[in-house]
Amino acid sequence: MKIKPKHTFIESLPADPLLENYRRQVNAACYSYVKPRQTSAPKIIHVSHDMANALGLSTKDTRSSDFANLFTGNTVLQQTRPYAMCYGGHQFGQWAGQLGDGRAINLFEVAHQNKQWTLQLKGAGATPYSRSADGLAVLRSSIREYLCSEAMHHLGVPTTRALSLALTGDKVLRDMLYDGNSAYEKGAIVTRVAPSFLRFGSYEIFAARQDHKTLKTLVDFTINRHFSFLGSPSKSTYAKFFAEVAKRTLNMIVHWQRIGFVHGVMNTDNMSILGLTIDYGPYGWLEGFDFGWTPNTTDSQHKRYRYGNQPNIGLWNLYQLANALYPLIEAVEPLEAVLEQYKVDFESKSLEMMRLKLGLEKQMESDVELVQNLEEILQSTETDMTLFFRNLSLYKKGDYLNGLTVIKDAFYKPHEVAEHIAQSWRGWFKAYDVRLEKEVHSDQERQLQMNTVNPKYVLRNYMAQLAIDDANKGDYELIDELFQMLKQPYDEQPQYEKWFAKRPDWARHKVGCSMLSCSS
Ligand code: AMP
Ligand code: MG
Repeated sequence: MKIKPKHTFIESLPADPLLENYRRQVNAACYSYVKPRQTSAPKIIHVSHDMANALGLSTKDTRSSDFANLFTGNTVLQQTRPYAMCYGGHQFGQWAGQLGDGRAINLFEVAHQNKQWTLQLKGAGATPYSRSADGLAVLRSSIREYLCSEAMHHLGVPTTRALSLALTGDKVLRDMLYDGNSAYEKGAIVTRVAPSFLRFGSYEIFAARQDHKTLKTLVDFTINRHFSFLGSPSKSTYAKFFAEVAKRTLNMIVHWQRIGFVHGVMNTDNMSILGLTIDYGPYGWLEGFDFGWTPNTTDSQHKRYRYGNQPNIGLWNLYQLANALYPLIEAVEPLEAVLEQYKVDFESKSLEMMRLKLGLEKQMESDVELVQNLEEILQSTETDMTLFFRNLSLYKKGDYLNGLTVIKDAFYKPHEVAEHIAQSWRGWFKAYDVRLEKEVHSDQERQLQMNTVNPKYVLRNYMAQLAIDDANKGDYELIDELFQMLKQPYDEQPQYEKWFAKRPDWARHKVGCSMLSCSS
């Protein structure tokens, strides 16, 4: 297998001098060297060939036993030294101290076609950062991460990627519902790929420990390596760096809002410094459009990470990053200016995104009201977000009396759409129609544009669960079917039409289909 590992990443950062992997607090170091655990029967069950190609690997390479051994941690390439990163984080609003790569092991880096990638195993055994957990991952959550991260990439959302999904052949004990009923599940490993896995929490940990020396080393490294266009590190560059991170964070979250993705655990240790969607745990996709929805059972009481709150949480998390960077900048104003700008940009970017979803190219003041009214009616009765926006593109100008017919498939309980709601819809379609008159595009042109921002296929929770149920029985065909379909989420793909449908009723309250715990 022709893979050319590099090791530029760790060279300039301080390492933990201890080479053991027992659990501990690691001070004044950004990472610890670790050994992946040996697996008993490694087996690759799916490969993202797009990702493999981006790394310079051929299909033949991915079929070799070298590949299977490398991407399950059974072999370590010569001249590479796997490592786990140290980071901290705010979890559900509270400072949680040291967290770190408790079950992620970075193998090495690859430079290909002017891009640098870090390859990382998730679920390859304990590290100094594993705290009280085992360092492993189960098939169920690995399928969810594998399918969703690649789907997000093809949806045009900044994200970490996935190269492969493998079984380890080992059993892993999990209490899936946190109800005292533990059971053995199949162990699995996803190979994740990203230009960097640094998180907000990577910086917070050193600020919290008042270790400003390591903090500065890491920030300078980050700028030199990933943000060099901002100039060489200095106080003013640090402020520009923060502005750039804020911009990317907002961009990522506006994409989430556009497609109805709810991350579920927006803790600061799950916020990428590059603005990539990272750490796919109890995430979910909106089915009924509802700002108050979260898939995460651990968060069901306060719903801190609900759909409608994601932009605010992005800002809250940026406040934590601002606090972490403050010791290097020693001035509040530049940081505050960025946080203020986020609020302004959030309003304008959200409106811009909703205009695109509605097929509106011009900017008119009345659009704010049109959008707000729509969001209100969408929530007044359970309306499938994906179906609604996709079918709205079929609307024909002048036909507002029949607007409801175009979108009727999106209602979960059509017979319960009361007369006053139907009335609201008619009112909204009339306003939409008046607004469309101000545009120059034909119905067909508008439809084409709308279909580039409103996906036809997303990874609904029940779909992932069906693939998981099959995979647990040793059948991986559905993983492949969903994977292939989600490579072209904006295309019609008639062969997959059955997946362009509301969540079936049996899935409404089924475990894994509507609510998920963090157990993974
Ligand atoms: P998460 O909320 O899944 O992003 O994880 C939060 C923290 O818990 C991170 O430091 C993870 O590395 C760690 N963690 C999660 N699951 C495990 C596990 N099975 N073994 C060790 N550490 C874990
Ligand atoms: Mg995490």
